[in-house]
Amino acid sequence: MPKLELHWQILIAIIIAAIVGGIVFNNFEATGVEPTLFGVRYLAIFDYIGTIFLNALKMIIVPLITSSIIVGVAGIGSGGNLGALGGKTLLFYASTTLAAILVGLVLVNAIGPGYVDGEPAKDLLALDASTAEFEERVAGTGLGDVAKIFQRMVPPNIFAAAVEGQMLGIIFFAILFGYFMTHLEDEYASPLYRFWDSVFHVMMRMTEWIMKFAPIGVFGLVAAVIAKAGYKATGPLATFAVVVLLALALHAFVTLPLLLRFVGRVRPFGTIKACAQPMLTAFSTASSSATLPVTMDAVEDNVGVSNKVSSFVLPLGATVNMNGTALYECAAAIFIAQAYGFELTFAMQFSIVSIALLTSIGVAGVPSASLVAIAIILSAVGLPLEALGVLLVFDRLLDMARTSVNVWGDCSCATIVARLSGEETKVAINPQPERRG
Ligand code: ASP
Repeated sequence: MPKLELHWQILIAIIIAAIVGGIVFNNFEATGVEPTLFGVRYLAIFDYIGTIFLNALKMIIVPLITSSIIVGVAGIGSGGNLGALGGKTLLFYASTTLAAILVGLVLVNAIGPGYVDGEPAKDLLALDASTAEFEERVAGTGLGDVAKIFQRMVPPNIFAAAVEGQMLGIIFFAILFGYFMTHLEDEYASPLYRFWDSVFHVMMRMTEWIMKFAPIGVFGLVAAVIAKAGYKATGPLATFAVVVLLALALHAFVTLPLLLRFVGRVRPFGTIKACAQPMLTAFSTASSSATLPVTMDAVEDNVGVSNKVSSFVLPLGATVNMNGTALYECAAAIFIAQAYGFELTFAMQFSIVSIALLTSIGVAGVPSASLVAIAIILSAVGLPLEALGVLLVFDRLLDMARTSVNVWGDCSCATIVARLSGEETKVAINPQPERRG
């Protein structure tokens, strides 16, 4: 019997987890006692399994990011080449993120999930800060906080940055390290290159091994989420969640495929299929950093992007390029403003868009990381921070969805950048016939 492909196994694990988690949740609701297996709470079992899997993925992030960026940058070689690849990558990252934010902005404004029957949904959401209170705060700006995120890019201690998982700091250090390796004599440069390249290869092998356990790990992660929260969905918050999911779907299945088709000249749905595994892993873990090893594996093996491009573009993207997160930040801030009945001027909407763009770059690729960024946006436009609590209700589900879009955005950009750098890939439209002779 042919073995079921891993992404199908993961998908089945997600479905079973949603059913089992739902049963545990309903049982708890009905009896008021947490259901147990041999005296151990089911929730604790799910958490236990999920955490081991997540830890295994996280365990390889620091050596993976460091080695892949050093090898990537050193392999690209001289400053001119690095500039060209870096320029293309950043251009795609910025433009896809902006496109995602605009989709969110338009949908939330058009559907208005913060209003119920034309009235701000403040009471329904139990938000009670008065509007007058935040008008004073409009003067305060959150831009200082945005600047602080970027300050972390230059860490005072690279080992402390690694211990704390400060990805921006590690990326900056690794880019410099790789770049200056190209300035060394061969006698020094080549052993270094071989060392880091070998570390990178070991990390990729470890990823493939860890992913064999993905269906079990994913089951634990998803079942724990559902067993804790159930599928309760009510009122304006449910409408907000649907609007966000719709906007994320539009970006993932319309905007990015159009770019893949017309800029990258590749088969968009072939690319989605090739990247199903990282997207499902991102959905289950809600962490783009933890998904990075899986993303690199799929983009190289299934999409056929060269290691030279993927080892530079993807580790950078896992921290810097967050289409789903940026969309969510913007949608959440506008939803909260609507719920308070707070008219946002054009200038305010513009600053929400800009801060969402900037903070999405600095936000870490870990679960719920965007809540910090939303706090920055809320204080920048003068909205009360108490509203953050309301977002927590659906945060996990929306986090899973936006993280998948974050990772899909990285995969799409890597594919397009590879094509624009002259690579064939396995998803190209009309691939060139192989030359003979
Ligand atoms: N969980 C997201 C990620 O890892 C970040 C966020 O939006 O909270 O990509």
